[in-house]
Amino acid sequence: MSFARRTQHLQPEGAYQVLARAQALEAGGHKIIHLEIGQPDFETFDNIRRAGIKAINDGLTRYTPPAGMEALRRAIATDASQRRGLDIRPEQVVVSPGAKPNLFFPVMALVEPGDEVIYPDPGFPTYEAMVRLAGGTPIPVPLLEDNHFSFDLQAFNKLVNERTRLIILNSPSNPTGGVIPLSDLERIAQAAQRHNCWVMSDEIYARIAYDHLRVPSIATLPGMLERTIIVDGFSKTYAMTGWRLGYGIMPAELAEIIQLLLTHSVGCTAQFVQVAGIEALTGPQEAVDQVLQEYQHRRDVIVAGLNSIPGIACQLPQGAFYVFPNIKSFGYSSTDLANLLLDRAGVAVLPGSSFGGYGEGYLRLVYSNSVENIELAIEMMRQALQTL
Ligand code: PMP
Repeated sequence: MSFARRTQHLQPEGAYQVLARAQALEAGGHKIIHLEIGQPDFETFDNIRRAGIKAINDGLTRYTPPAGMEALRRAIATDASQRRGLDIRPEQVVVSPGAKPNLFFPVMALVEPGDEVIYPDPGFPTYEAMVRLAGGTPIPVPLLEDNHFSFDLQAFNKLVNERTRLIILNSPSNPTGGVIPLSDLERIAQAAQRHNCWVMSDEIYARIAYDHLRVPSIATLPGMLERTIIVDGFSKTYAMTGWRLGYGIMPAELAEIIQLLLTHSVGCTAQFVQVAGIEALTGPQEAVDQVLQEYQHRRDVIVAGLNSIPGIACQLPQGAFYVFPNIKSFGYSSTDLANLLLDRAGVAVLPGSSFGGYGEGYLRLVYSNSVENIELAIEMMRQALQTL
């Protein structure tokens, strides 16, 4: 069989490959601790579940406008304006089934063949995939481990140029948990204005930040809202990964084009899911705060545990639910070390290289798991690694 050339570069996400290997081991009777899949381990909060079920029972099971129900777009505009100190109107909001279509379609709408797109490496694998699908040239920028895994600004300044159409940022980051400092955002914003490019700011983990940190958004810097697409959603904050609900915030003119792309692809987002989303934003927020405290405790446990293993050096991330320890001292590739940990320690983690070439030498561990499992995983890893 032959398929269109534009699909030839597509790869599965590393997490699903490791999960399949881990499940095969489990089928053979092995006990595996899963630290590979990036999603909350909590159930969707009660009030949201009830709102979704009620919406189905009330018959809210029809098509909605492609960009989302007016009430949800208004709720998102209000929430995003308050949280970021911006003035966002509902026409700038595009609702989608998960955040992913709001990564994908703006790239389709903005990037022509030959355009360059700068993105973080290590970074979420979808960035490179969608740039290639659009015919753009992906330009990875390495991250600096000792500066919150923010862009290496020297490298960035050499790579940004008049062919750069779009700069993709992700803060807090998957896979590093790093939060880009405001001073770096200012430098990136200056470059975006100098070269007249767009910025896509993937802020899906913006509410998952620790030590009372407010994650800065590049969209709040002067002159940036009109050239920025903020991507956010419900998957992580409200433990709703399987509901598929996300959104983009962008200039209204671009939002019109994204609506058309949604019209001719997914049609719209499920109506009852959108109703649950309104409840998520406008209902009580205590559950979000409680979960956040629990994540912060787990972060502290996993970082201390990893740093107590000889040969591992792990930064303290400020957000998301990932750690990205440096494992270069072992002299193994990250893939070999991840395989070894799965086989000998029963701990499923991802090799840093599945997030790009500059992720080599690191592992990604997800700590949306119980403290008990995290502590057990650390002990199993310690034993497996001390025999190397
Ligand atoms: N951006 C990043 C950085 C992510 O980690 C994820 C989820 N893994 C997404 C976007 C997509 O989120 P959603 O499930 O809402 O499509």
